[in-house]
Amino acid sequence: MCGIIGYIGLKPSLPILMDGLKRMEYRGYDSAGIAVIENGQLKTVKKSGKLDALQAALANQSFSSVIGLGHIRWATHGAPTDLNAHPHSDCTGKIAIVHNGIIENLAELKAELKAEGHELKTATDSEVFAHLIEKYYNGHNLSEAVLQALTKVKGAYGLAVISSSEPDKIVAARLGSPLILGILPQDQPNQGNGYVIASDAAAILPFTKEVVYLEDNDLAIITGENYEIIEKSGKCNNHQKQHLDWDLTEAEKEGYPHFMLKEIMEEPKVVADSMRGRLIPEQGKVKLGGLIDVLPQLKSARRIIFVACGTAHYAGRIGEYLMESQLGLPAEVEYASEFRYNESVLEPGTVVIAISQSGETADTLAAIRQAKKLGALVLGIVNVVGSSIARETTAGVYNHVGLEISVASTKAFVSQLVILVLLTILLGRQRNLSEDKAKEIISELENLPDKIKQILEQRDIIETIAKKYAQRNNIIFIGRKINYPIALEGALKLKEISYLHAEGYPAGELKHGPLALIDATWPVVAIAPQDSVYQKNLSNLQEVKARDGQIIAIATAGDEAIKELAKEVIYLPKTLEILYPILAVIPLQLLAYFIAKERGCPIDQPRNLAKSVTVE
Ligand code: GLU
Repeated sequence: MCGIIGYIGLKPSLPILMDGLKRMEYRGYDSAGIAVIENGQLKTVKKSGKLDALQAALANQSFSSVIGLGHIRWATHGAPTDLNAHPHSDCTGKIAIVHNGIIENLAELKAELKAEGHELKTATDSEVFAHLIEKYYNGHNLSEAVLQALTKVKGAYGLAVISSSEPDKIVAARLGSPLILGILPQDQPNQGNGYVIASDAAAILPFTKEVVYLEDNDLAIITGENYEIIEKSGKCNNHQKQHLDWDLTEAEKEGYPHFMLKEIMEEPKVVADSMRGRLIPEQGKVKLGGLIDVLPQLKSARRIIFVACGTAHYAGRIGEYLMESQLGLPAEVEYASEFRYNESVLEPGTVVIAISQSGETADTLAAIRQAKKLGALVLGIVNVVGSSIARETTAGVYNHVGLEISVASTKAFVSQLVILVLLTILLGRQRNLSEDKAKEIISELENLPDKIKQILEQRDIIETIAKKYAQRNNIIFIGRKINYPIALEGALKLKEISYLHAEGYPAGELKHGPLALIDATWPVVAIAPQDSVYQKNLSNLQEVKARDGQIIAIATAGDEAIKELAKEVIYLPKTLEILYPILAVIPLQLLAYFIAKERGCPIDQPRNLAKSVTVE
């Protein structure tokens, strides 16, 4: 679930592998390793900890090898030790594999291999691949041996394999874990291209923008000169090349101390990019190119179900509210990780919309497959072009916000909310949303980038507030109506990166339980813009204040009254009620960021978490 890379070509492989691994670091990992074929021998170096530890272990070695594999690991089976780090080898020490994912029938395979005399050295599931390939390998049929090994494995894999007996090829395969093949420019005319295979476009971007996305059940055989992609059945399956339109600078911090802050500061542009070319203000309409083919089904849709995990799930909750409040269209949101097990009943006319930044979230993919089985039209809101969810859904909308590197999602969430508003207008104009109302929303959407800039200008004020409260143990976030999911997201963001205990509650629920906790040690972050529940929010804040709770209010600019209740106030420019979530989440992202910074946390790589969760 973390990162794999392989290189084959004419250049020394090690610098390319290390650069690629460095660019995937953001995904969160616990150990790293490389394997190269040097003078016909497999050489493996692997270390627990960060890439610096691997770099130090490589310091006294020089390699001229032009083929190699690299891996950063997020342990699922076995502790993050040097031994358990990838690459893993077979008994002969000639085969090396790197693997992302999980082998589900591990016990059975291990027992079988052990009975056959294989000596498994690590506690990982992945090592099994090396021995299975060894079992079917005759020294010159690496791709066939991999194919045979794969027939034995149940689970998910992005896999890359080399063998010192065939030092001129990398064999790679995927099922449920992403793999992208980068085609490097030729060094000189009539020479081979060289290829990088990696689980993440960020690792490929420095070398090329020409890529081929592998699909589930694909197996790629890559030599320095050429590549071939075959299906498990052996059928040739060369997919179209795609051009990545991401900029390399998107994978760099551009002077910001963390990717998270950089991505928050990009949000005015993110909102503009998410809407670009999609608004028709004079007609009060939106155009979502990816949905054109399914417009008739959308028109007759009778129920929407959003499926998503984590932050994207909270975007789905706002989607649910928008559909019901603006269109009267029944909607609900499900945790993608549960959807498959819920035995949901989907009546005809149900449209399932999956939301995932990476488009690779394993739980969301499983939910999509289940929804398809149940006969629903399945759409996606996805950022990564060509990702698995983008391919497996019938139609969808791309966020178009570039690479999101910070594990804690910020800009993708803001973009998801914008897309959900666009979708509301699209479905609304097919139903009863008036042209005037749609025009009003569109015109206010166009103002959002400037309004977000005004919020970001309060960065220093938010940092000062964060410093005051950073050493507390608990924080409660409250909001009502469409801003309740923002309270949940504010709490999640804080948990993810600062490890503080935080909870999100509907403001009206405090008195039904959590109010018992409140005393002078508890900060309560209240999202209380001047909307239709403003007065209700104020009453809830009175209840908090009466128990000495320390209120940090997110309020509408010009609201002086709230200062009577709140210790701190962060102001949002005035907007439409349904658009407040897009503004209100931004100070909460900044608050989480500055609290984590004050607590000295590794913000871009929070412990125990990974970007793009490709295991169930
Ligand atoms: N399941 C494997 C392990 O624990 C692979 C983990 C990963 O994808 O990084 O080693």
